[in-house]
Amino acid sequence: MALKIQANCTACDACVLDCPNEAISAGEPIYIINALLCTECVGAEDEPQCQLACPVNDCIVKDPDWDESEEQLLEKYESLH
Ligand code: SF4
Ligand code: SF4
Repeated sequence: MALKIQANCTACDACVLDCPNEAISAGEPIYIINALLCTECVGAEDEPQCQLACPVNDCIVKDPDWDESEEQLLEKYESLH
């Protein structure tokens, strides 16, 4: 499952550099996660680094439209690196 950024994003930029897959970019008006690049940090970290970095509660959440297993996320990570 990829993560997505919700409308309460304040465009503070805190999450961008913490993403191991460069999946986050500045959008207008809020930041955007490219679901094709997001692995929930599987392959690189123990937990989603963007959620740790984000100062806004419940801003970055799982995107139910992207139903991927842990194994699929790891394959995705390996294909990106
Ligand atoms: Fe990037 Fe990890 Fe956040 Fe996905 S969960 S956008 S891979 S930092
Ligand atoms: Fe938006 Fe949170 Fe990223 Fe800041 S850290 S740009 S509030 S998603």
